[in-house]
Amino acid sequence: MARKIGSRYTANQILGRGSAGTVWLGEGPEGPVAVKLLREDLASDQELVGRFVQERTALLGLEHPHIVSVRDLVVDGNDLALVMDLVRGTDLRTRLDRERRLAPEAAVAIVADIADALAAAHAAGVVHRDVKPENVLLDMQGPLGPGGSHPALLTDFGVAKLIDSPRRTRATKIIGTPDYLAPEIVEGLPPRAAVDIYALATVLYELLAGFTPFGGGHPGAVLRRHVTETVVPLPGIPEELWQLLVQCLAKAPASRLRASELGVRLREQLPLLVGMPPLDVDEPDSESPEAAEPGVRGEGYEEVAVPVGERVRRGAVPLVRGAKPDSNRDTHTSMRVPGPDELAGGALGTARVPRPAGAPRPGSARHRAASARRRRLTLGVAGVVLVAAVGVGTWAATSGEDAGATTPDTQNSTPASP
Ligand code: ADP
Repeated sequence: MARKIGSRYTANQILGRGSAGTVWLGEGPEGPVAVKLLREDLASDQELVGRFVQERTALLGLEHPHIVSVRDLVVDGNDLALVMDLVRGTDLRTRLDRERRLAPEAAVAIVADIADALAAAHAAGVVHRDVKPENVLLDMQGPLGPGGSHPALLTDFGVAKLIDSPRRTRATKIIGTPDYLAPEIVEGLPPRAAVDIYALATVLYELLAGFTPFGGGHPGAVLRRHVTETVVPLPGIPEELWQLLVQCLAKAPASRLRASELGVRLREQLPLLVGMPPLDVDEPDSESPEAAEPGVRGEGYEEVAVPVGERVRRGAVPLVRGAKPDSNRDTHTSMRVPGPDELAGGALGTARVPRPAGAPRPGSARHRAASARRRRLTLGVAGVVLVAAVGVGTWAATSGEDAGATTPDTQNSTPASP
């Protein structure tokens, strides 16, 4: 069912629905376009409409091969729409959901494209603020690049800023996935270009590992991890690539690379990654009850039922008791950062150490059997030591206790950088 958008565009068919509105396949004077029609509550917000018009020049001015350009802004009656270049393909989240992990060459090629897009935006004084796989579109009609990936384009430029008014974020109680939020945002500092680098490095880690470095469980715990925890190495990742990731996930914004340098350094890695298969790592186990399947729980929060057979999407839990989980994976565009008391309440301090593939999951039958074997071995060793100790003196008796202390230190926390 077609509908008119302003005097120049027609929206013909829905391409997808996002948190801010519906994206339509449309037609304009110069051919096919994508039209994002903002949600009614956003479109009827006079303050937002004002900013929309004010930001017009910055939004329309961004032109780059890896940026989905905004061609026009339409304010027409109750409609508020962004007219964008049409990208024929899919978004990166859909690809990641399908493949679970990408081969390092493909992952790095995609992220290098987005780093280039960010370099152009940052040079124009625009911070994206919502870099995540949902906002990366893969142009299936573009030429195949390294690792067989299609060109990647960053979309939704400036939308986060337009929608993120203090009034709105105060009013919105639902928190979406905070997996990509830089620590300085959690601490209440204004988002500068380095927040995009942190988010992009998080995306790269996720493409390689199949999970984000600090995600999992209660949103408050995720936010706390961003500020306090060190990223845990991925088994099998090439050292130079790992160093790049670590640098861009630094707690201190000034320690992160700039987008242009990140793009260059990533492309330098590409020849070393040719033919490398996806990393062989398993998702870490969150030992906190909040992440337990089949429901998603947070301390003091009601359990949220997840339909049988549906994978629990980490972070998709409401911050407010009884609220519905945020299925649209919206991030800080509609996020209320919890206060220190809430953060303390929700934080359980689980460090998330990836398990090498094939290692038993803590709590599983295999893990229990392995632990029992270890205990038997430890007791056996302790027994032998004890018998020996009777002969040679009492000093050796304590070595049995030491041998029993086999719990690995998984906390791995570091204080936040300034
Ligand atoms: P939101 O940012 O409001 O959550 P999205 O930008 O993610 O919404 O768009 C929702 C869907 O529309 C996505 O699945 C995406 O694939 C599709 N889409 C968005 N922009 C375009 C575009 N320029 N061309 C083609 N499809 C698009």
